Amino acid sequence: MIALSLAEIAEIVGGQAYDIPDPSVRITGPVVIDSREVRPGSLFAAFAGERVDGHDYAVRAVEAGAAAVLAARPVGVPAIVVDDVQAALGALARAVVERLGTDVVALTGSAGKTSTKDLIAQVLQKHAPTVWTPGSLNNEIGLPLTALTATEDTRHLVLEMGARGIGHIRYLTGLTPPRIGVVLNVGSAHIGEFGGREQIAQAKGELVESLPEDGVAVLNADDPLVRAMAARTKARVLLFGEAEDAAVRAENVRLMENGQPSFSLHTPTGCSDVTLRLYGEHHVSNALAAAAVAHELGMPVEEIATALSEAGSLSRWRMEVTERPDGVTVVNDAYNANPESMRAALRALAAMGRAAQARGARTWAVLGKMAELGDDSLAEHDAVGRLAVRLNVSKLVAVGDREASWLQLGAYNEGSWGEESVHVSDAQAAVDLLRRELRPGDVVLVKASRSVGLEQVALALLDSG
Ligand code: ATP
Ligand code: MG
Repeated sequence: MIALSLAEIAEIVGGQAYDIPDPSVRITGPVVIDSREVRPGSLFAAFAGERVDGHDYAVRAVEAGAAAVLAARPVGVPAIVVDDVQAALGALARAVVERLGTDVVALTGSAGKTSTKDLIAQVLQKHAPTVWTPGSLNNEIGLPLTALTATEDTRHLVLEMGARGIGHIRYLTGLTPPRIGVVLNVGSAHIGEFGGREQIAQAKGELVESLPEDGVAVLNADDPLVRAMAARTKARVLLFGEAEDAAVRAENVRLMENGQPSFSLHTPTGCSDVTLRLYGEHHVSNALAAAAVAHELGMPVEEIATALSEAGSLSRWRMEVTERPDGVTVVNDAYNANPESMRAALRALAAMGRAAQARGARTWAVLGKMAELGDDSLAEHDAVGRLAVRLNVSKLVAVGDREASWLQLGAYNEGSWGEESVHVSDAQAAVDLLRRELRPGDVVLVKASRSVGLEQVALALLDSG
């Protein structure tokens, strides 16, 4: 971050200085909320969580080199005391971004935020110094912490914004007002909490409502609920997608034999071929969103196409493909799941496994529940089980209790699929089964919602290669 003094920070956040011998001392290290991440010159923000209270770690943080603590009460070491630590952190982020004058690119959507953010970051990095959200730190704490890592050199700040309800995105855009806002899709992630797709669209659309007149709303032309957001913004609209009227468009989309998509990218500056290093056709849409942002920031189509073709995933457990020495391929997509991403991953598995199946090997879909689907839950799990059969996946291993049985039932009802689909109680049982059954050449997809922790299966399979 920029080297602000403790006095400046106290003023920005409207806080009281306690036990600060020298208010002109500057913050020269990162702003952190975990005392183990303190570096010399850090500002340690003390949050009171359910299990641990950051205030209990204030002394330790200062011993580790923190210049001061941002706290809700005096803690016996140098502190800036405020009523609300979260609000103070947000105010600090806002002030820093304003002073730096950094262009903020914000993105949201139901699926693909992190993948797209990683793509945008890698493409823009070729163009100018860029700072982006690490992993999925997309909430009211992670977002300001990321923004506070920007420095005087930073030209682009790429921020993922997550929403679990109405008003969340509005709050986040208030902290780091974006000039470019990207909406990827409106799916069914967290539909149970929101109450329906319309409400999800309402919440995600707060991003484009926040954009200024000289801003740009980058919208997915292929998703009707996203396209409709054009009516909710003062900003100029730039459409991306496969639709004919999209300014940034993919043509000739195809999935290569290894599951990586390839297409020709059209932007207003011309056209150039792209082959992604990511797996699954859903990444075409993510890549187009990244291309639209890069185009807007002045990159010509050839440069964008090259950067996209070189970009990989920066975040773990999203379609991570590893081939074991014995020729078994493990696709770890266990980071998260919703109906859209389940379908996309199954289609990628089917494409990757086609050659394997022709040689007599099998494709395995090791799937767990998709959380928070509300009333649609049974039908959505049933539909995923059915799709696995229609895509000719060789074996379905449904892991967990109720929802897993719906997955298996869907598969069973779609075909005479008794033997090919099994239901096991937990991850360990899945590992035991796969260790017995896997043969060289087999391709295994592992995917479920975050709470299932199905990466254990992928990691165990890779350990026992
Ligand atoms: P979260 O809300 O958990 O942060 P996210 O929106 O950041 O999720 P990613 O982590 O990029 O999304 O991807 C989550 C899952 O969605 C992965 O399984 C990925 O394969 C899938 N996915 C990525 N992009 C898309 C897309 N455009 N459409 C559907 N599924 C997608
Ligand atoms: Mg994410």
